[in-house]
Order: sequence, then structure tokens, then C-alpha cells
Amino acid sequence: MSLHLQVCQNHSEREAVARCPVCRLYFCRECVTEHDDQVVCAACLTKSVRQEPLQQGRYPFVPRSAAFLAGLFIAGASFYSFGRLLLLVPTSFHDGSAWHSLSPP
Ligand SMILES: [Zn+2]
Ligand SMILES: [Zn+2]
Repeated sequence: MSLHLQVCQNHSEREAVARCPVCRLYFCRECVTEHDDQVVCAACLTKSVRQEPLQQGRYPFVPRSAAFLAGLFIAGASFYSFGRLLLLVPTSFHDGSAWHSLSPP
């Protein structure tokens, strides 16, 4: 079945680009989020991480759970990159562009 024949569960005027593996419903790009290498809808993501309910209307493009996960990911990536650099040769540490761009100002 083609995705182009489906519409978003939340936006009936938009065509779906992904199908949530949890609830098996179709969603547009703004309604899905990547989580554990899976594309799940915001509702299922909220349930899986036990966050506060989705606040629809205030930030339709960026659900709070997505911003929260993005922050966690960036922090994790920074620590991970830094740890890896410690294992590498000193030249990479002095270059430092990889983790320097990830760290907050
Ligand atoms: Zn779902
Ligand atoms: Zn949508």
C-alpha cells in the first residue's frame, strides 16, 4: 500500500510520509519523531517516555518531548565524542572541531 494514498492522523489535509509501528497509524512528517532507530508518532513517543501530555497548538512543529530528546541526544553525543577523542591521538584533540561545535556556547 502506498503511503501517498494515506493521510496524516492529525492533519487530514496532509499526505502521510511515515507509519507508526506502535499504533500502526499514518502520520505526516511533523507528527513523527525518530526514537531508538524507529519512526514513531508523537503520541506513542510521549507514552513510551512517560512525558507530560502533548501540548497541541502551542508548538505544533516541535513537540516538547522531541526537544527534550534532542537535548538528551546532544548531551550524550557530546560526552560520547569527548570520550572517544580521549582514546584517539592528541592531534585529533587539538583539532577538536567535532566536539567543539556540539558543546553549548
Ligand atoms: Zn503511534
Ligand atoms: Zn500531521
